[in-house]
Parts: sequence; structure tokens; C-alpha cells
Amino acid sequence: MKIYEKAPAKINLMLDVLHKRRDGFHEVEMIMTMVDLADRLEMSELPRDTIFISSQAGYIPLDEKNLAFQAARLIKERYDVRTGVHIHLDKKIPVAAGLAGGSSDAAATLRGLNRLWRLNIPDQELQELGAELGSDVPFCITGGTALATGRGEKLTPMPNPPQCWVILAKPPINVSTADVYGRFRSDKIVRHPSAAKMEQAIRNQSFTEVCGQMGNVLEDVTLKLYPEVQHLKDAMIRLGADGVLMSGSGPTVFGLVSKESKVARIYNGLRGFCKEVYAVRMLT
Ligand code: ATP
Repeated sequence: MKIYEKAPAKINLMLDVLHKRRDGFHEVEMIMTMVDLADRLEMSELPRDTIFISSQAGYIPLDEKNLAFQAARLIKERYDVRTGVHIHLDKKIPVAAGLAGGSSDAAATLRGLNRLWRLNIPDQELQELGAELGSDVPFCITGGTALATGRGEKLTPMPNPPQCWVILAKPPINVSTADVYGRFRSDKIVRHPSAAKMEQAIRNQSFTEVCGQMGNVLEDVTLKLYPEVQHLKDAMIRLGADGVLMSGSGPTVFGLVSKESKVARIYNGLRGFCKEVYAVRMLT
């Protein structure tokens, strides 16, 4: 028996960091949604009690460091499953990009194995399992659009933003999420984005208001460390994207575009100097 799952990338329409907690994590407020750029996972039962990961991508770990492996091990242990599984990862989401690719693979693994092994675990419980693997995993279980608080694991679902094009560009640098959070100083932030205002913009289904409320306080750190991310933002704005923001801790920059007629020009303009560019639809 084989099960297929799609693991889409997430973007943050807004990201605010409130303060550092006693446990070392930061208290955040984020509105996240998904885009139609996705990894595909194929899960098949193995006769032996083992977890085997394969991928066409030569640049990700295939051992217990892989988040899909960790998700499979967690669900197997917690529900005492004695059969093995082969998970093939067809990677499309750029790695270490601020798009939660690994987290989405982990979530897709939990969803897929829940079906493959007929465990009937409710979403809420899958989300609790996911929180043990990473802060973005609970959101990736159900996807859609949500306000995430706490360290990102407390979710309040909300309506999807108005449909539009999303152009993503990843400069060829690796950004460590831990390093960005480590350097973040909330007292240096002049303007915090507002989750309440972004939520209202989404409820109004106003594309212009959504673009106007976009903000990510982590840009303050990443753009200073990596000027190429700032250049990418400037280029996207110059080429005519309606709202431009860095996703997560970066380095991927995304632009929201309402008119299809603008998409090719922005895409081609960026491709002139950036190898990894994608033009996709918002997943609504
Ligand atoms: P986030 O936005 O949650 O910080 P990210 O998009 O920046 O995530 P990922 O693509 O999830 O980062 O990869 C981060 C690290 O996790 C990489 O160093 C990678 O080697 C490792 N990793 C483990 N499992 C996976 C996986 N299934 N896919 C991609 N990377 C993985």
C-alpha cells in the first residue's frame, strides 16, 4: 500500500517577536499561510520494522536528522507501530529558506502515516505531536491561514487572504534561524507589525490592505547581516510587486502580485540575477 502527501511551503504575512521567554524561546505573533510550492512525499509499507528515507535531492540529510524520519519515529513509538515505512521525498521547496520545508515534510509524514497505519489520530493530537518536532509543524498539519502565538505552536485559524500570485526568490546564502533570533533585540524595533490589523485586512478580503499590513521584525537582523536580501527586496518593489516581505528568518523574499500580467516581468527581472525564483499561486 502507498500513500501520497503534498507538503506545501509557508510564508509569514506578518511576524512580530514580543519578548524572549524564560525557556529561551521567543514569544511570537505570526500570520501564516501556504503557497502552491510543495514537496511530494510517497510513503510505502516495508516488511521490516525500519524507517528508510530517500530523496532526489542530494543536499538534505537522509538519516535521523531528517524531520520526516523524526516524525515517523515519533508516531511509531507513541502508537506502538511495529511495521516499517519507506518515505520518498521529492523536494521542491528550497532548504533553509524560511519556508518551513522541513516542518511541512514532518507534518505531511504525520498525516500520511496516520492514514497508512489507520491510526485515526485527530488533527489536534497530530498537532501536539508535531509541536515536539518544531514550532512550525503544528501549523503545517492543517495548513490554511492562521494566527500563531506562543513559540508559534498556538494556532487560531482565520480565513484565507484574497487569491493572488506569490513570487519567491531565494538568494544563494544559508541563514540560521537560531542565529537570527539570537541577534534580535526587540528594543531596537521602531515599528511592530499588527496581527489585529492584518487579520482585519484579511477579513475585509482587501488585497491592498493585506499588502499594507505586511511586516516582519526579523528583517531588522537579516537585512543588515545579508545586504543581498535587501537588494532582492528593492528589486522586487522596483519591478512592481504589490507587497514585498522576507519570509520567516529569511533569506527568501516573497512578493504578492494581484495582476497576472505583471508576473512574467517580475519573474524574468529577478531571474536576471537570482537563480532560485518561483511564481506560484497562494493556496486558498
Ligand atoms: P523554518 O522556516 O521552519 O526555519 P527553513 O525553511 O528555514 O525552516 P528547512 O528547509 O526546514 O528550513 O531546513 C532547515 C534544516 O533542516 C536544514 O539544515 C536541513 O538540512 C534540515 N532538514 C531536516 N529534514 C529536512 C527535510 N525534510 N527537508 C529539508 N531540510 C531538512
